Amino acid sequence: MKKIAIIGSTGSIGRQALEVISVHPDKLKVTALAAGKNNLDEFAQQIHKYSPVAVSVPDSQSAIELKTLLKNPVKTEILIGEEGLVAVAAHDDVDLVLTAIVGFAGVKPTIAAINKGKTIALANKETLVAAGGVIMPLAKEKGAKIIPVDSEHSAIHQCLNNDRMDSLRNIWLTASGGPFRTWTKDQIDKATVKDALQHPNWSMGKKITVDSATLMNKGLEIIEARWLFDCSAQNIKVVIHPQSILHSAVEFCDGSIIGQLGLPDMRLPIHYALFYPQRVDFVDGPVLDLCKLSDLTFESPDYIRFPCLKLAHDIAAENSTLPCVLNSANEIIVGAFLDSKVSFSAIPDSLKRVLSKHRPITKPDLEDILEADRWARQEATAILKAIV
Ligand code: NAD
Ligand code: MG
Repeated sequence: MKKIAIIGSTGSIGRQALEVISVHPDKLKVTALAAGKNNLDEFAQQIHKYSPVAVSVPDSQSAIELKTLLKNPVKTEILIGEEGLVAVAAHDDVDLVLTAIVGFAGVKPTIAAINKGKTIALANKETLVAAGGVIMPLAKEKGAKIIPVDSEHSAIHQCLNNDRMDSLRNIWLTASGGPFRTWTKDQIDKATVKDALQHPNWSMGKKITVDSATLMNKGLEIIEARWLFDCSAQNIKVVIHPQSILHSAVEFCDGSIIGQLGLPDMRLPIHYALFYPQRVDFVDGPVLDLCKLSDLTFESPDYIRFPCLKLAHDIAAENSTLPCVLNSANEIIVGAFLDSKVSFSAIPDSLKRVLSKHRPITKPDLEDILEADRWARQEATAILKAIV
């Protein structure tokens, strides 16, 4: 029985993970959960259903609300704040931590779990973008495995099978192209929140959906891949593949390319990560029928219409505080866009301004990264204030 903690259990990835776990009660058990302030109703239902040993909510007000919502008395310990998040991730009753929280908030619980030698099923890419240079060596030192959940990285993990690094030439990271793949630059600049939230293939949380519309998501994924697979950012190629069937591919020195295919269903990479290194039957939904496939198409990304991809690509090789600044500023600016305070074109424009003001620290330690995060949020907020 694998004992699982889910950090961010009421979100898109968290819910789908619980679906996967529910199908395998003989192999997987939820022992700890953490969630944000929204959806406390749903969180209470999850607690009743899975009876975790411990849960965490962001503040004492949420804990009071949660206790009221828990109609029957439960044995679950309710923890609070960043400390609670860290305690859930590092809990003795946990073997594997699924990081399904959104944003930089994933850094501390991920580090706490690694320090305890837990396996990380990593959905929260922002943690590796901001702190990959701290996380990866720490995981090595502590013997903690990191199994990607992001569909592209799950594909690469499966193609590499962990033993083919010497002969690897390139990683081909696929991108759907998002809702604005065929839009002109003018149209994209004026896109509304509603437009940006219409992802053609995936239903996800709002922040990653906007990142998929700017293609920042793919930029973050380049940085995620370089840390996960210890490869040069130069050897990570992005290819637009609107059908989201080929989830990514690896190219070897002899010219052979091996890819992983599947339906665009996040339960599949979640299932893979939760059971790794075993392969277990996926019994809960349709799987890909190759006879029904047609028109798999591929095209080059357009860095002019999607400047966020270029911004991330340009700094992907850095082991400095710049990727952290890019990520944290992006969180603030995307938040302002989602609140309809700034236009879609303000996302790359404001990001460029924050990045140009930053004085990067190379080979940052955790303190440097936490400071860069604070600085980037402050700077992005000030820049946005001046334009709204
Ligand atoms: P989401 O917004 O749907 O869910 C986020 C979850 O985190 C929610 O449960 C929320 O309550 C919780 N949360 C937020 N702040 C918190 C806090 N301070 N403390 C505790 N919990 C908190 O997001 P999502 O789409 O599920 O994405 C989660 C992560 O997975 C992101 O890093 C995203 O990039 C990555 N990811 C998502 C998908 C997808 O299909 N949704 C695919 C690949 C990668
Ligand atoms: Mg992805």
